[in-house]
Amino acid sequence: MKVNEIYRSVQGESSYSGLPCIFVRLTYCHLRCTYCDTEYAFYDGQDYTVNEVLEKIDHFDCSLVEITGGEPLLQKESYSLMDRLVERNYTVLLETSGSLDIQKVNSKVIKILDLKCPSSGECHRNLYSNLNELNRQDEVKFVVGDRNDYQWARKLLYDYDLTDRCSVLLSTVFGKLSTQQLVKWILEDNLKVRFQLQMHKYIWDPCKKSV
Ligand code: SF4
Repeated sequence: MKVNEIYRSVQGESSYSGLPCIFVRLTYCHLRCTYCDTEYAFYDGQDYTVNEVLEKIDHFDCSLVEITGGEPLLQKESYSLMDRLVERNYTVLLETSGSLDIQKVNSKVIKILDLKCPSSGECHRNLYSNLNELNRQDEVKFVVGDRNDYQWARKLLYDYDLTDRCSVLLSTVFGKLSTQQLVKWILEDNLKVRFQLQMHKYIWDPCKKSV
């Protein structure tokens, strides 16, 4: 499998925010979101076997692992990597765009579906059947860039009863929409969602890699 980077940091964009976490960033993405901050993962990476990735992960003393990208489900080895991590009793998070089928993902993996809002330019790639595969442990994330994105996300919440089925997280496109504005809209509509910041962008330089 082609791996862009493996590192330990704090989890910054889910209900696990703030916890130490090992990130395995896999190479390749078939989307081109307007606000993408990981374009370096589109092509760059080194070939690893699943065993070699596991060895690297085991080297850190940390029980939380996130498989991210790029789009990690583009590589078939990501499924066996997740299975092996679950067998080893790691808590495994999968950050996926939601445009690829998640049915074959190990049921113990916590799926974080990063559904694409209209301003991402990739909204038409969302695979909505994935929403029927979510469990209570899973999460749906919306990165909101403007009022139209917010209204689109709110409609989806209502149409799919999302807040009754899993955790729902809303954050802003960094530098595009004010955090105060999004919080105001959430409170006005009394949405049962979790507002979140892209934590690493506030701790470190927003362009810094491997954090
Ligand atoms: S899915 Fe993620 S990695 Fe791919 S283009 Fe969008 S933001 Fe970038």
